[in-house]
Amino acid sequence: MPAKRKRLRFRVNRATGLLAAARQVASPNQDERPAGLEPELIVIHCISLPPGEFGGPWIDQLFTNRLDPAAHPCFAEIAGLRVSAHLLIRRDGELVQYVPFNRRAWHAGESHWRGRERCNDFSIGIELEGTDEGDYTTAQYRRLAATIRALCRAYPALSAERLAGHCDIAPGRKTDPGPSFDRGRLARWLAPRSDYTSPGKAHA
Ligand SMILES: [Zn+2]
Repeated sequence: MPAKRKRLRFRVNRATGLLAAARQVASPNQDERPAGLEPELIVIHCISLPPGEFGGPWIDQLFTNRLDPAAHPCFAEIAGLRVSAHLLIRRDGELVQYVPFNRRAWHAGESHWRGRERCNDFSIGIELEGTDEGDYTTAQYRRLAATIRALCRAYPALSAERLAGHCDIAPGRKTDPGPSFDRGRLARWLAPRSDYTSPGKAHA
């Protein structure tokens, strides 16, 4: 039987809205959530800059309005965007937080979920570094699941069922995280560990 990967346990500080495991890079593209609204939905996105290429400082620069439009031909049309996400999970599993979870990040755009519009008001946006077509990494699924578990502990209105892709809340306009995002694989990382057998039991 293959060795099971140990699950990570992350912590979200409710007072600050920060994930302890993440490198912090503050984005100016954020504001307060409407009064009384708490995170109720987690939206999964993907991003790569330039498209299809991984690594590099470009995503940090885009989300902090410092992207040089001359650095790549495709940057000219996006350099002026004022966008952000709460969290980025890079290919190697590095976590970068741009906006505290208790504040509003600008990730969803025109969107609706279960009859409600403006999903930014009540959602948390998580970007996976990747593309619609290429597989995401095990490091990303593992850290995404640990992040979701930590968010569900911090914000009672969230649950593992309150997950959507950007494509689900902006159909026809957005396709990310794409068919390459394996929801079953995420669900297995999120499922309770009912199959766990301690070494003592195994030899009983
Ligand atoms: Zn998106």
